[in-house]
Amino acid sequence: MGRFDGRVAFLTGAGRGIGAATAKLLGAQGAAVAVADLELEPAAETAAAIAEAGGRSLALALDVTDTAQVDQAIERTVAELGRLDILVACAGILRDNLLFRMSDADWDAVIDTHLKGSFLAARAAQRHMVAQRYGKIVFLSSTSALGNRGQANYSAAKAGLQGLARTLAIELGPFNVNVNAVAPGFIETRMTRATAERLGVEYEQFKADVAATTPLRRVGQPEDVAHVIAFLVSDEASYVSGQTIYVAGGPRG
Ligand code: NAP
Repeated sequence: MGRFDGRVAFLTGAGRGIGAATAKLLGAQGAAVAVADLELEPAAETAAAIAEAGGRSLALALDVTDTAQVDQAIERTVAELGRLDILVACAGILRDNLLFRMSDADWDAVIDTHLKGSFLAARAAQRHMVAQRYGKIVFLSSTSALGNRGQANYSAAKAGLQGLARTLAIELGPFNVNVNAVAPGFIETRMTRATAERLGVEYEQFKADVAATTPLRRVGQPEDVAHVIAFLVSDEASYVSGQTIYVAGGPRG
């Protein structure tokens, strides 16, 4: 028996990084998984890995900032995989800049992808979750929610997601839907590699510097976050809602 047998999960940004690791873990533990990402190719790679490991999956291309695309992707998931129990909103981008250099476009792109994208996915998913009186939603926040130089847009979005999780936990709790957030510190993915490139720092050195100031003395791996998300979307966490769990190798990354 798998932990998620009979459950259907929908993940955004699941072609790469934390989303891909979570999709594979949920798939390995019995969930049928809809793997959505901006481009079909990375989504299809994750979906193929789930299928090769004996799981059931569906690859979807979608832009989480587009209401119609999000609604259609959720409806297609329910039509093809039969129901919807779990939403994990991982899609994300960075447009870092100090405030005086941050353009309207930098601000809008980050707020739209993280905050509006998570809102749209949650709104579409809850229709099915409320009707069946069962659902699990996890948003990806970040230690940057606590403040991080050069990330006014990202920090505001990630702090906003913690408020969104708390509010939806209150609204959806009566329908047996749990809503939580995870807030990773430095995780080894394309996103942190891109940050090193932007800063002109060699990635191995960048990771070593972060590890040296992290209490657990290492950077995180996508699987470190995936396991916490899997706990939150499992029935073992059925009395946990409206919380943000930091996954940062210490009290903050
Ligand atoms: P990643 O490897 O870059 O994966 C993010 C995925 O989201 C990419 O495949 C990206 O596609 C996709 N995406 C971007 N915009 C999208 C859109 N509009 N619609 C649909 N998909 C979109 O990043 P990650 O490190 O796994 O991050 C996953 C989540 O964790 C993000 O929300 C991030 O903010 C959060 N997080 C990460 C860290 C970290 O250290 N890595 C720390 C804290 C929080 P493209 O590559 O095609 O753009």
